[in-house]
Amino acid sequence: MFIKTRFAPSPTGELHFGNIRTALYSWLYAKKNNGSFILRIEDTDLIRSKDIYSKKIINTLKWLNLDWDEGPYFQSEKIKHYQEIITFMLKNKLAYKCYCGYKKLNFIKKNQILNKEKPRYNGFCRNLKDNFKSLNKYVIRFKNPLFGKVSFCDSIRGKITFKNSELDDLIIQRENGMPTYNFCVVIDDMESKITHVIRGEDHINNTPRQINILNSLGAKLPSYSHLSLILNNKHKILSKRDNSSKVLEYKNLGYFPEAILNYIVRLGWSHKNQEIFSINEMIELFNLKSINKSSSIFDEMKLLWVNKHYMSSSSIKKIKKILISFFKKNKLNFENGPKLNIIIKAFSKRCSTVLELFNSISIFYKNNVYEYNDEYIRLHLNKNSVEIIEKIYQIFLDLSVWNEFKILNSIKNFSVLNNILLKNLIIPIRIALIGNIHSIGIDKILFFFGKKKTLLFLKKFLKHIKKVFV
Ligand code: GLU
Ligand code: ZN
Repeated sequence: MFIKTRFAPSPTGELHFGNIRTALYSWLYAKKNNGSFILRIEDTDLIRSKDIYSKKIINTLKWLNLDWDEGPYFQSEKIKHYQEIITFMLKNKLAYKCYCGYKKLNFIKKNQILNKEKPRYNGFCRNLKDNFKSLNKYVIRFKNPLFGKVSFCDSIRGKITFKNSELDDLIIQRENGMPTYNFCVVIDDMESKITHVIRGEDHINNTPRQINILNSLGAKLPSYSHLSLILNNKHKILSKRDNSSKVLEYKNLGYFPEAILNYIVRLGWSHKNQEIFSINEMIELFNLKSINKSSSIFDEMKLLWVNKHYMSSSSIKKIKKILISFFKKNKLNFENGPKLNIIIKAFSKRCSTVLELFNSISIFYKNNVYEYNDEYIRLHLNKNSVEIIEKIYQIFLDLSVWNEFKILNSIKNFSVLNNILLKNLIIPIRIALIGNIHSIGIDKILFFFGKKKTLLFLKKFLKHIKKVFV
């Protein structure tokens, strides 16, 4: 069997981690089986669907390298086609026009609730005569079987059965002529010959209705896997409104696409106790059977941990490419400072994301000092610091060779000669130049700044703290 899977998002918001997990599992399953993965944008809800979201969906998948073999198909471009099939179904008595209208349906529903019955359409128009005429608007409903059961074997949850008597005659075309979501899904899955439908468990209730439509059209049924939902840290279902879960945001935060996929693959799937998977390993090891039935929790700290792993194991070339994008975005020239390769080597293992890396090193490329924080300055320095920095300024000025060894030596000598703890020298220099007492070795920092900029920035800092400690 040629395996075909699909990812079928509705463009009503940005993709969150749950959506991407659905995409990833479908993609992995197709790749693993040398099959085909289809991207379909389900944009028939004209009010809630927005072009901007379709674009973001495509950009997110591209960023993550979840490439598709077919598509993107847009359902909105196929409306006529769906309508033709609905006409065929009307002719063949697989569907019927319902003239009940909102008011009547509401009345029926209210009565059902009063009688403690499950509210559902009562089939009033199901058997109207062929020659029935009305000026009222109508919807078109699918003639769901009245009796019997519909079952399917979910690869994650096992056999799931619904009684037909519990299922409504589903509306497949609205009053305005638009085909509905459940109908379009069925037609597209059928015509694309999808063999494996992998999607969120919020679709379980749609599945028996979709199966009945597929059966009525004599189509082959796909296999179904419904993934358990992902909860946020407040144990609420992840939604498109959750900001922290918008996947594309993590591009701006300097995450690696591989790290995102690695984190996501483990949200509900496991292979022994392994946490880190290359893409090839994922493809090789992934299977539907090892997907977990219980819901998983989106944990930003773990995501950060996974990204840090990729940060320390990625090639300099790879980090550099992302780093340069941050330089460009911030209109900063990366040639106006130390070579990126050297800077990446020195800093990347300390950082969890490329953004963090960029923030720690951008000062080396700027012509202006960082924004001083007097509170932080007062916390770590005092009046004496002014004199210390003045003296160290002179030492640096006199240093003829500017390399890490000479720089460190000069600081050490100064500390011994003046009987000042090395620490009490290094902290003021760090604060003067980078505004942070934690960073890589002071010799490296000064080397990266270069002599000219070190002296310039020290001078500016001196001017500033003379005002702080008057
Ligand atoms: N368009 C649906 C959604 O975004 C998915 C449909 C499906 O996977 O069958 O929830
Ligand atoms: Zn009706």
